[in-house]
Amino acid sequence: MGRLPYGADILDELSDICIKERINLGWVQALGAVQRARLAFYNQQTYEYQFLDFDGPLEIASLVGNVSVRDNQPFIHAHVTLTDEKGNGYGGHLALGTVVFACEFILQVVDGPTLKRSYDVPTGLHLWKEE
Ligand code: ZN
Repeated sequence: MGRLPYGADILDELSDICIKERINLGWVQALGAVQRARLAFYNQQTYEYQFLDFDGPLEIASLVGNVSVRDNQPFIHAHVTLTDEKGNGYGGHLALGTVVFACEFILQVVDGPTLKRSYDVPTGLHLWKEE
């Protein structure tokens, strides 16, 4: 549990922590505020992410994500809800380019078999293998 530094990229910073601490399976939650943000929406017709850029301050009302393994490295998949000065919410898949103003997080390590991501044909995403 801790605080991410001012100016850090949230996704990058959380990934670095997992790599350094060798966390391969876990759960992350966070709240705080960002200076700017980049979210993604997965288009189920084109199988491509569409990016949404927000060039100003927003609150992190909620960030939830998990840690598993992709390409033999800890990989964070997180979704976030951000709110503006009127309380309007924006949400989506957390992308690189979301910059911390202030952020408090908890990273819970989970015991269990490692979940590995691999290409999934019906969705075009890198998902956990179905048993
Ligand atoms: Zn996602």
